[in-house]
Amino acid sequence: MMEERYYKFSQYLRRQFGIRVHKISVNAGFSCPNKDGKISKDGCIYCDNRSFNIDERWSQRSIETQIKEGINLAKSRFKAKKFIIYFQPHTNTYGPLDLLKERYDIVRRFEDVVGISIGTRPDCIDENVLELINSYTEDYDVWIEYGLQSIHNKTLKLINRGHLYEDFLKAVLLTRKYPRIKICAHVIIGLLYETEEMILETAKVVGNLKIDGVKIHPLHIIKGTKLEEMFLQGLCRALTLSEYIDLAIRFLEYLWPGTIIQRISADCPAELLVAPLWILEKNRVLEGIEKKLVAEDRYQGSRYTSWGHL
Ligand code: SF4
Repeated sequence: MMEERYYKFSQYLRRQFGIRVHKISVNAGFSCPNKDGKISKDGCIYCDNRSFNIDERWSQRSIETQIKEGINLAKSRFKAKKFIIYFQPHTNTYGPLDLLKERYDIVRRFEDVVGISIGTRPDCIDENVLELINSYTEDYDVWIEYGLQSIHNKTLKLINRGHLYEDFLKAVLLTRKYPRIKICAHVIIGLLYETEEMILETAKVVGNLKIDGVKIHPLHIIKGTKLEEMFLQGLCRALTLSEYIDLAIRFLEYLWPGTIIQRISADCPAELLVAPLWILEKNRVLEGIEKKLVAEDRYQGSRYTSWGHL
């Protein structure tokens, strides 16, 4: 078998389940405090939930219907046998506890579901919610996905995340009280005015935290967002594919070797994407990363260092 240069999610799924497992995104109908006015009404400057990999018409269907149709599609298209349900758009821990439970519990109606992944903001978590999420670890592989994007508060402010790096750290430490819940951090490469040094500082910190999983995305500009306005005014730019490949590989090198790379590209419907257009050629991105890793004999974790206080 070909040696893997980074710890791919597919590799983890094979190890964990031994059969083909597919992740199915559902829109559970939650809101986001960074959009509904609790934190701000503007949202993150790049955010447009239409670009998440869910058909809008589909997401207006019940959670049960979304799961049912997602499973049928993944069975026929990918020959998947088991499924992880990913509560993806908006903030999926933002609501009263009984409502969260009611919506998460819908996965229990499907016997082929083996995992749950809950996407949220690091400032929307507390012990009660974690207790609830932890209760699913009895029966499922359970992940919580925290949007971090960058460890630099200057950047977080610029992109209007509405939380600080310290909120992320607090969320990680709190979640670690429940060791059966796996943590995935979302980061973006190419954020406004971030230097290579700043990007790699994020990699070093995430590496030192030995996070279970990471999703690495290139910054992409979506129609109708604040970021598009800034892009059109020439206030920001998109990375070229070779810049992204180079930075993504450098990022991987600073991560802990045991961190599962859940994603290292982005998905965006062509009709919503402003730039960079290479995002649409996902295979080209993945192959470019793979080829460079092999050609230069580089690996995830080769520059990882632990300063070990967490
Ligand atoms: S936290 Fe997520 S859903 Fe909320 S505004 Fe930011 S990107 Fe959008």
